[in-house]
Amino acid sequence: MSAHTPGVWTAHPLRLVDKQEMKEYVARCIDAGDGNFWGVICQKPDGPADVCHTGNGSDSAANARLIALAPEMAVIAPEMAVMLADYVLLHDEAIGSECECMHCVGARAILEKLEADHE
Ligand SMILES: [Zn+2]
Repeated sequence: MSAHTPGVWTAHPLRLVDKQEMKEYVARCIDAGDGNFWGVICQKPDGPADVCHTGNGSDSAANARLIALAPEMAVIAPEMAVMLADYVLLHDEAIGSECECMHCVGARAILEKLEADHE
């Protein structure tokens, strides 16, 4: 089993993408390879499903699984953010300055991304 594509992942509106080019791109992805075209499908109770195509590459299945986890991760993200902030604060207080251990550096990066997503 391959791993998902490493980050940094960012979300973007696709309104600047030419619709015809996007249609052709997706069609080429579907037609290419051995038929293992991956995506995430969310059937909405009030209408058609949302579909997120993840492609046909070696990491496409893992990317689909990662995206499928997003709703559960979004639910726990606020609580995790509080825990991360507390963790960093404890480390900072313990050494009397901004802790630069890999855990605190990673936690700060996550917290900054969460804050940016809510702006
Ligand atoms: Zn630390």
